[in-house]
Amino acid sequence: MSFRRKGILSFSLVIGIITIVLLLLVSCLPSADYGTEEEADAAAPYIITASDEHQELSALQVDKPLAEAEVESVTVPVVVPSVVPEAVSNAVPGAEPEQDSNEGTTLFLPLSEDKNPVPPSVTTNTYVPVVPQKNTGKTSSKVSIPVLNYHSVAIDPGNIVVISPDKLEEQMAYLHDHGYTPLSLEAFIRLLEGDTSEKAPEKPILLTFDDGYIDNYEQAMPILAKYGFPATLFVSPGMTEQDGYLNWEQIKKMQAGGWDIQPHGMSHPHLPKLTADEQAYEIVEARKLIEEHLGTKADIFCYPYGERNKTTLKLLKQHGFRYAFTIDQGFATNEQSPFLLKRLFVNGEEDLQAFESKLLMRK
Ligand SMILES: [Zn+2]
Repeated sequence: MSFRRKGILSFSLVIGIITIVLLLLVSCLPSADYGTEEEADAAAPYIITASDEHQELSALQVDKPLAEAEVESVTVPVVVPSVVPEAVSNAVPGAEPEQDSNEGTTLFLPLSEDKNPVPPSVTTNTYVPVVPQKNTGKTSSKVSIPVLNYHSVAIDPGNIVVISPDKLEEQMAYLHDHGYTPLSLEAFIRLLEGDTSEKAPEKPILLTFDDGYIDNYEQAMPILAKYGFPATLFVSPGMTEQDGYLNWEQIKKMQAGGWDIQPHGMSHPHLPKLTADEQAYEIVEARKLIEEHLGTKADIFCYPYGERNKTTLKLLKQHGFRYAFTIDQGFATNEQSPFLLKRLFVNGEEDLQAFESKLLMRK
């Protein structure tokens, strides 16, 4: 029985020791827990974010300059170079279409809008200024001149290609009163080519008359003369001397009165329907006859009906023509192909307000 007692005693001793140890442990643990919980709320967030921020900052400061250094000198962060080459590469193909497409303006307009994206790039990084300066310098050299496209000047209600003498008078008065300067063809070309030897007028404009109707001599010339306005006549020599059309005497007088005379095809043909040889005849013979009759250069072409194809363009280049006018609507600019200059058709039926808004739209 003594063994049993001893056993019970030693067992209860062991249990007593264990409970004491446990009590000690338990009394220690809670105090440690409280401490960590409170500190965790307060300190832990700081520790985490601070280290993250440090990582981000160091990534920005170290990685970016490295990347820049690899790309090019010290200039600009990644954003800007990607913007600028796009603006330039858009401009270049648009500037030299040399095909019979009408897509000129849609390409050019984004170019001028590309000037605007510059400020955002300035705000997104601090190093910028260099590139935007280059950009604005380039685009500021754009030349854009309205070229009005008239035909017959007579009274023919309902015919949009014919404008009444009164309306023409009203429009010339408008141009005069609003400070427009109608140009000779050569002055127009000088401006378009960026020749700054003469001071450019504030509001240059070119007046063109197509086909060589006799009323251009009888009606238009006296009205323009009243204001001292020069103009350009695109004539089809194969139609001169016919009823309703100018004869060479009249054309000479118009030239003496400040009109430039240039070719519009021999017989006002649909050029794309002709063979290359036929086109060449229409283009070259018209020029030759004008030069023979008037003794002046006639190397600015105007497409009859505005129509042309690749052969037409090739022939014009081949025969040394300098420019060609279309009837594609818009201002003529130095960003258009020289053989695809745009004009503004003057609808004989429209009122002065429509005429004015045509001149005020920026193209
Ligand atoms: Zn015509």
